[in-house]
Amino acid sequence: MWTAPKNSTPKQIQKEVGIARSFYPELDEIPIEFKFKDNIKRSVMLAQPAFSTLLKSKKNRAYKILISKKFKISGRDFKTTEVPSDVLIGWLGHELGHVMDYQNRSGWDLINFGIRYVLLKEHVKTAERAADSFAVRQGMAEYIIKTKRFILDNAEIDQAYKDRIKEYYLSPEEIMEMVKKIHHDEE
Ligand SMILES: [Zn+2]
Repeated sequence: MWTAPKNSTPKQIQKEVGIARSFYPELDEIPIEFKFKDNIKRSVMLAQPAFSTLLKSKKNRAYKILISKKFKISGRDFKTTEVPSDVLIGWLGHELGHVMDYQNRSGWDLINFGIRYVLLKEHVKTAERAADSFAVRQGMAEYIIKTKRFILDNAEIDQAYKDRIKEYYLSPEEIMEMVKKIHHDEE
């Protein structure tokens, strides 16, 4: 089991981060700082390369995963740490999927990637689906599905956020199909 270096992970989510990171042994040596923020535009979490390491070699890169302290459901604020533990693990697993994707890219490619992410809707979809796919391939399908279900089946969550999840991310059905395919290919 992966153990958090001091100060890189807030205490309240150390268990969940540890479980999510244990699915990504490839990232064991990569410093990833998990940090609570008051508010993140349009999302609950955000994975990004540490700017100063962007153009360094891949093994010297570092990342930050920003986590919004609260998110809104029907105009009411909920604390991110209050969602069920497995849902939080799925959320973190998706963000680590982004880090895997980033680790496959050169620094210049990442800069380009960031610009396209901001400008092109179609690129957001490609990036989000890639992060989900990485998490599923690392064995996190169950957690990822729990996170989607938590959002999509929660009557109190804003429809606009649900629509965004449906439009840009893998659906629970697509994830199940992927899992079947992975098992099939392994046999
Ligand atoms: Zn994402």
